Amino acid sequence: MEQVNPEVFEVTVGKILDFGNETRNFQLLLKPGKRIDFIPGQFVAVLCPKEEKVIRRAYSIASAPEEKGHLDLILKLVQGGLVTNWFWSFKSGVKIRVHGPYGKFILPERIDFEIVFVAVGTGIAPFRSMIRHLLGGGFQGKISLLFGSRYDDMIPYQGEWLDLAKKHPNFIYIPTISRPGPGWKGEAGYVQTKIEKFFPSPEGKRIYICGLNEMIQAVQETCLRLGFRRDQIAYEKYD
Ligand SMILES: Cc1cc2nc3c(=O)[nH]c(=O)nc-3n(C[C@H](O)[C@H](O)[C@H](O)COP(=O)(O)OP(=O)(O)OC[C@H]3O[C@@H](n4cnc5c(N)ncnc54)[C@H](O)[C@@H]3O)c2cc1C
Repeated sequence: MEQVNPEVFEVTVGKILDFGNETRNFQLLLKPGKRIDFIPGQFVAVLCPKEEKVIRRAYSIASAPEEKGHLDLILKLVQGGLVTNWFWSFKSGVKIRVHGPYGKFILPERIDFEIVFVAVGTGIAPFRSMIRHLLGGGFQGKISLLFGSRYDDMIPYQGEWLDLAKKHPNFIYIPTISRPGPGWKGEAGYVQTKIEKFFPSPEGKRIYICGLNEMIQAVQETCLRLGFRRDQIAYEKYD
């Protein structure tokens, strides 16, 4: 896939999915016949009119390019945050503008390594696009998703991950919960504490990390300690 020049698109808010914990998926519908050619991992800038100005905020595209007609964005409400609070006022049918695609956090054309995705919360967005694109296209290599969430009953797209893992033996889904409820039987704790257990050897792997800086730093430090080279680690920072 080729990088294309960014364009401004008028989109209509479609379905809004609430994942709890102040996290929502917003489906943005493109005008009929319009398409946005992006590479999984890229983002759009949302254009928020504010008095005479336009405020821009980046949001990674959470849907795959093959899903024509719409884009998914997943947002976490930020206390006092200008653009996220604006989104929280949206109902289906609202029209907004986005500018894109942008970004270089993408996979190489040729993947001759085992992919390890590490995300917390909305950091899942670029990986959802990549995973849907790869598995939907018949990719046979190994993909692991280590996904951190605060609560076990509020994991974004949980049903989807479980279905994909059932359908594709090459897709390994590892949720880890920082505040697990009494019934949770899976992994508990922050993502950085799970790297050594699940990926002790760097051999043949590349780690992609997305989310807030503090988590990225912690995961990166752990990986370097385990012997990963810097060129085996890529990340997208949200803050
Ligand atoms: C490439 C890229 C992709 C991104 N993709 C996503 C995405 O898919 N989903 C998503 O939710 N966000 C994403 N972000 C973050 C997003 O662009 C905004 O920064 C975030 O939504 C806050 O915007 P706001 O206007 O509501 O808050 P602002 O008005 O910008 O900030 C208000 C206050 O909150 C603090 N703050 C800002 N962001 C955060 C945060 N994330 N957590 C805690 N405090 C914060 C600021 O320091 C400021 O003090 C991405 C950022 C980048 C650079």
